Amino acid sequence: MQNELYYDVAVIGAGTSGLYTALSLTDDYATTGGYACKVAVFSKKSVLGCSSALAQGGIAAVLDDKNDRFDLHYNDSLIAGGFENNPAALRVLVESAPDEISRLVKYGAELDKDRDGNYSLGLEGGHSRRRIVHVKDRTGLAVVNALWAAANARDNIKVFENAPVSDIIKGDGYYAVCTGTTLVYAKYVVMATGGIGKLWKYSTNSDIATGDGIYLAAKLGADIKQLSYIQFHPTGFKGGTDGRVLLISEAVRGDGGILLNGDYERFMDKYDSRKELAPRDVVSRSILAEQNAKGNDKFYIDISHKDPDWVMTRFPFIYGEVLKNGYDITREPIPIYPCQHYLMGGIAVDEDGETDTANLFATGECACTGVHGRNRLASNSLLEALVFPHRIADTIKKRGFDVPVIKDIAPPRVTDTNENIEAIQELMQKAFFVNPNIELCKQGYNTLDDTAISFCAKRIFEELING
Ligand SMILES: Cc1cc2nc3c(=O)[nH]c(=O)nc-3n(C[C@H](O)[C@H](O)[C@H](O)COP(=O)(O)OP(=O)(O)OC[C@H]3O[C@@H](n4cnc5c(N)ncnc54)[C@H](O)[C@@H]3O)c2cc1C
Repeated sequence: MQNELYYDVAVIGAGTSGLYTALSLTDDYATTGGYACKVAVFSKKSVLGCSSALAQGGIAAVLDDKNDRFDLHYNDSLIAGGFENNPAALRVLVESAPDEISRLVKYGAELDKDRDGNYSLGLEGGHSRRRIVHVKDRTGLAVVNALWAAANARDNIKVFENAPVSDIIKGDGYYAVCTGTTLVYAKYVVMATGGIGKLWKYSTNSDIATGDGIYLAAKLGADIKQLSYIQFHPTGFKGGTDGRVLLISEAVRGDGGILLNGDYERFMDKYDSRKELAPRDVVSRSILAEQNAKGNDKFYIDISHKDPDWVMTRFPFIYGEVLKNGYDITREPIPIYPCQHYLMGGIAVDEDGETDTANLFATGECACTGVHGRNRLASNSLLEALVFPHRIADTIKKRGFDVPVIKDIAPPRVTDTNENIEAIQELMQKAFFVNPNIELCKQGYNTLDDTAISFCAKRIFEELING
């Protein structure tokens, strides 16, 4: 080990939830008795390589008092989540949203506004009101850029880029975080490592989404739950050529996009009265049911009936990316198919983001606060990545900082999280795509070893097999 460094808090992950945690920790010295705590933030690859930077649609929040209410946002989230949501955590999520949007703007995010200077509010599947703040169709990139710039401007936040954390060892009152070349000692660890999409062959997630934080937290004794609560997004673009699936945002359906089967017929009304605006799990299952009924796996989304200039202005990123692959979204239906998109479960935490292991917190997609229940309502995820980091920071600040006495620790392990990744992706795609195939889960279980992705796959199979 070459370097040994000392921080108060080590945040593993530099997406929305990790950067927001670091900023909230260092926001106000008054709440830490005038002490400026030192925060180390780790990013496995470049900061912009996180899944947050790919987010398109936006962030849900009740901001239009005349037409919207907290209880409507709460109920929409419950309905999408199959009423399996944690009611207390969901209440916190919904009611904290307006304040966190204000703080996000103070950190520098410039959200789209209408001509009157009010936030331009989008509509997405499962929402009964327009309540999605956004930055065109690249909200996540704008958010991460703003948070990263704000973090870089603070002397007491250090962002380590291209620094994959391979092990964390628990000492007496401190953690030792290992990146291979550096050992960082910190009293508190916050896991903010994102999702597990790279377990699947077809996913919208970035390459970093291999479940590292979930694996490391489990090794530290934290409870992991509901890892089989996976959201399959109905509209992954099917005409792309590279590994990651381009998402066709929920907002396209929210703004009038319709779904067509292989015979170019609209079909959603056969499966749900909300048609294209049903929650994502319902739409994904409807697509597979329609495929079985018709014997045809071709599906399309069509927004070509809208004014082309408006489409290009509202969805410039999607328009440009799809055009690169030979389709013009303003003129024709474009091919789509469901793919893995989001993890609802993860490291079990309470409403302050704390795990059942002392001074170990988790937030963002790797954490399970229970706010999403069985299926996440669109645009509640970036919101979760703002609300709970703030609460984690407040909890840590209240608990206080002291200098731990570092003793000898066991040598850290350096693991390759991507080992066997292609074999596992093939397996997951067959064993659990929208609906699980329990026989294949049983067969696949015994082929898995002890890397982060294997650990996550095993836990998913265990949950599915045991019902
Ligand atoms: C294409 C797409 C569109 C989306 N659109 C929306 C949307 O419109 N609205 C919405 O609410 N949600 C959306 N989501 C979901 C949302 O973006 C994510 O759930 C959320 O951004 C996750 O934030 P995070 O901070 O938890 O994780 P991420 O942003 O993925 O960040 C994870 C961080 O952890 C780091 N990391 C991982 N492993 C290690 C390791 N071993 N060592 C060091 N660092 C590590 C990564 O480098 C990264 O910095 C979308 C997701 C995708 C993929």
